Amino acid sequence: MSIEITQVGKNFGDFVALADINLSIPSGGLTALLGPSGGGKSTLLRIIAGLERPDTGRIEIEGADATNVPAQRRGVGFVFQHYAAFKHMSVAKNVAFGLEIRKKPKEEIAARVKDMLELVHLSQFADRLPSQLSGGQRQRMALARALAIEPKVLLLDEPFGALDAKVRKELRDWLRRLHDEVHVTTVFVTHDQEEALEVADNIVVINNGRVEQVGTPDDLYDRPANDFVLEFLGPIT
Ligand code: ADP
Ligand code: MG
Repeated sequence: MSIEITQVGKNFGDFVALADINLSIPSGGLTALLGPSGGGKSTLLRIIAGLERPDTGRIEIEGADATNVPAQRRGVGFVFQHYAAFKHMSVAKNVAFGLEIRKKPKEEIAARVKDMLELVHLSQFADRLPSQLSGGQRQRMALARALAIEPKVLLLDEPFGALDAKVRKELRDWLRRLHDEVHVTTVFVTHDQEEALEVADNIVVINNGRVEQVGTPDDLYDRPANDFVLEFLGPIT
């Protein structure tokens, strides 16, 4: 079981954003899509999520063809850089939202929201508004909201990019710990080599709409596939 991406291509007009991507993302892992800005990382993530359609190719999620399945039925949780919270809803209501639109029973929603807020240590903020949280706490709320629906796959696009260095570091540890606890297949986009190397089990280096290399952090350092990877990773710090 995994996410299988087969011959996925995407153009914007004449511009080739993704060229024939073939990729297997292991189930239960924490995978980073790493590469310079404009390389196609977000486009690929959005295609996995079903927020964008590929021009060619096929997406399989945990054994089922998802290519023509709409986003809300793919079983994916999504966290963006600028989290999209409902400003006038409490933290608890925000976390409950995905369950409410899926018409889950009230008691089930309440129990799940409670668990999720405990998971991200926000229980004491359940009744606050998102504007009353710090940036880091808001992204933890976004994580709780994405995980609330028990997604098969958790997708994050530069989730910590807008935060300062200290909070970013804290949230990396959070993501790592959450993943170790819930083991959901997770794919996150970053342009930050250090972030990918520190957090991910598996790294996909993407540049110019192509996959340059796939491997563990050690693989990438010990056996960079080409000059691009070698230069992009830079010296070990
Ligand atoms: P990354 O996330 O790696 O920075 P993106 O996937 O966002 O890269 O973008 C890859 C390329 O595709 C960029 O050059 C971007 O400008 C272009 N692109 C992305 N989305 C669109 C769009 N909706 N319309 C036109 N060009 C786009
Ligand atoms: Mg991007």
